[in-house]
Order: sequence, then C-alpha cells, then structure tokens
Amino acid sequence: MIPENSTSDFASYAKKTTLFPSLVEQRQGRGPIPRVGEAPLEKIRADFPILSEQVEGRQLVWLDNAATTHRPKQVIDRLVHYYTHENSNVHRGAHTLAERSTDAFEAAREKIARFLGAPGANNIVFVRGTTEGINLIAYAYVKPLLRPGDEIILTLLEHHANIVPWQLVAQETGAVLRVAPVDESGQIILSEYAKLFNSNTRFVSMTQVSNALGTVAPVQEMVAIAHGFGVRACVDGAQSVSHMPVNVSAMDADFFVFSGHKIFGPNGIGVLYGKEDVLDAAHPWQGGGSMISDVTFERTLYQKAPQKCEAGTPNVADAVGLGAAIDYVSAIGMENIARYEHELLEYGIRELGVIPGLTLVGTAAQKASVLSFVLNGHENEEVGRYLNRAGIAVRAGHHCAQPILRRFGYEGTVRPSLAFYNTPGEIELLARTLHEFVNSSL
Ligand code: PMP
Repeated sequence: MIPENSTSDFASYAKKTTLFPSLVEQRQGRGPIPRVGEAPLEKIRADFPILSEQVEGRQLVWLDNAATTHRPKQVIDRLVHYYTHENSNVHRGAHTLAERSTDAFEAAREKIARFLGAPGANNIVFVRGTTEGINLIAYAYVKPLLRPGDEIILTLLEHHANIVPWQLVAQETGAVLRVAPVDESGQIILSEYAKLFNSNTRFVSMTQVSNALGTVAPVQEMVAIAHGFGVRACVDGAQSVSHMPVNVSAMDADFFVFSGHKIFGPNGIGVLYGKEDVLDAAHPWQGGGSMISDVTFERTLYQKAPQKCEAGTPNVADAVGLGAAIDYVSAIGMENIARYEHELLEYGIRELGVIPGLTLVGTAAQKASVLSFVLNGHENEEVGRYLNRAGIAVRAGHHCAQPILRRFGYEGTVRPSLAFYNTPGEIELLARTLHEFVNSSL
C-alpha cells in the first residue's frame, strides 16, 4: 500500500516544469511529425521489429526501457552477418575468418572508445555487463587497496549492482561503506557527499542516472571532489549512456561501466572503461587464455589491459553487435536523443500529473527517462497488470534499488521508463489507461 504521507506530489511537480508545447501540438495535428533530430519517429520505429508486436491482443507499448531496450534491425542484421560471414575465435587464428572476426571485434572496441570520449581503444574492456564491470573493479582494483577501517563511498541512489560487490569486498577486508544522502527531490546533497571524505577513504562509486527515480547526479562535480581528496571514482553509466551524451574524459571518471542491452545492443555484453593507470594497477581479474604473454608452472606474465582483463574466448558477436548499436544511436545523435526524451518526459509528467492519487517518486530538476510513481490505495503490481492488459509494459517492484525507495517510504513503485522510440501517443495511452484504472476502482 502507498503511505499517506508521501512527500513528492506529482501534480505540483508537473506545474513547476517548463513544458515544450511542440509535442502537444504534434498530437493535435497542428505541428510536424515528431522527429528525433533529423529522423522521423515513424522511420525510427520501423527499425525496431518488436515494436510492432501484439501483446494481450493489443499493440505493444514498451515503457520498460530502464530494464532493457529493444534492438533495431541494424543490430540484429549485424549479428546474423557476423555468424554468417565472420565467425571465428579472435586474435589467434592464421586464417581469414580469424582476421575478419578480430577486425570486427577490435573495430567495435574503437567505436566504443570514440563514443565515450576515451583516450583510446586500450581503455575499453569487454565484460558481460555493468554488474560484471563493477565486480571486476571491486575485486581486481579496489580490494587489494583495502585495509580494516578503510572506507568506500557510495550514494543512496545506487542499484544493488553498485552496492553488493562493495559490501562483499568490505566484508572480506574489514572496510566500511559510507553512503551519500539525497534531498527530498532525490538529488545528491553535494555538501553532505563532500563531508564523507577523510584520510580513510579509498574509493567512491556512484550512478550517473538512478534507475528508480531518474535523477541525473552531478557526477562531474562528484568525481572532482573525490579527486580533490586523492580518491579514485567509478561512474555507473547503465542508465545514462542511452539517454545523453557521455564523455568520460570530460567527466574525468577513473572507471565507467555500462551494459549493451540498455543501449539497444545485445545481452551479455558490456563495457568497462578505465584510465590507463588504473587498468595497469588492477590485478588480474580472471586467469586463463588470451590474458597472458607467457606461462610456466612457476609464474605467468600478463598482457597489458585490456587483454589482461579479458581471460578466455570473448563474446565476439555481441561486442560487434554493440558496435552496431553505437553506430545506430550515433547516427541519430545523442544530443538529439537527449532533447527529444526530455520533451517526452516533461509531457509525461504533465499527462500523469492530473491523475487523482498519483504521486511521482523522484522530482529532481535533473531527471532522465524515468516516471516512477505510486497510486494511492493500489498495489504497484495491480497497476502493472492493468497496464499490461492494455499492451503497456512497465516495471512494478523495487527495481533492484531498495535503499533509495525506502528513503521515500516505499517498498516499490510503478516505473514507466522512456527511450527515443517512444511517442507522445504512447504517453497519452498510458495516462488514459491510468485514468480508466482509477475510475474503475472508485
Ligand atoms: N546499475 C544501474 C543503474 C542499473 O539500472 C542496472 C540495471 N538495471 C545495473 C547497474 C545492472 O546492469 P546489468 O544487470 O545489465 O548488469
């Protein structure tokens, strides 16, 4: 059930926002067809075959993008092409397919480096996803630095993937976790964050965008504060890379991690960016083939990063597919995507803001993609099931971010989350269906 004393009222928040009128005009037939940058929305949507899927006899409306995104046919076709024409192990064959496969794999690494504004391809390590990337940093880089009483700083906004690995290394070493608080809107309180640093602080890890509230944290300032104390910082980009331009060099992050499946790429592939010196200092993460330069039974010499961190046969096809996803969003333009989604988010805030009993959870001025809410008198799962019957897919639950929801007095929320292929019409359908739900249960 929804607590009565909820603090963040969606309707009053909606009134405070500056709405872009263009989407409203478009819906009323007075404006042009929505575009994301130069690309007409209809053309973009036609690239995503699953968006034409029917569920429960209705047109699918995918508003669960924070959980996973869909793949355009350019990514699907790239995977088919890889398995049809290039499939081979990488780096070690003397034959043509090994060359093709290695070229495609390393080209993907280079694309990702450029996309993130990294100094070079050697800063890019392929991992399974954000979760594996954070575990790698925790075990290979941070754990060897830790002594009893050392401190790791996190924030209240973190996904469990950026809490539990730190808890594990802390338990194994006697280190402790310190947690930066948020204000009533769900934004990090920078002055409180800065107060957590002291001579025992060894590392800080923070999300750039909260998957539960959508808060965009001031990561550039947070990294600068950490560096001012001589502390290295990791930024969890799982919820930011698909919604806004990211430049790891401007941000000055020591590590940055994200998952392919949240940016229209394949499952089971992700990226760990690291500065050269931190990757050099990291201990081997897993031992095996590909990460060595010489092995005897007495000792092993390792390759430099990124190979040092990529033991075994890599997930070549999905890395190549991720490269295709990066090409896809880059062609539309991350600035254009950010601008369009911002309009859509504000439109959503206004449309949902007039629904009786609906409370927005997370009202930070800087927000991306997420419209988490609770409906007075209704279980989140009940709302999710009703929306599903209208073809609308949203997440209902704790979103693997229990500490931040509990900060606001909730065990869960209903969470519509946007991507650039969502339309104003889908937002209207969501709002209309929620009105129906509220009216039907009066
Ligand atoms: N961090 C954040 C902010 C996330 O939203 C997620 C996924 N929901 C993760 C980490 C974990 O990502 P993955 O499950 O792809 O490893």
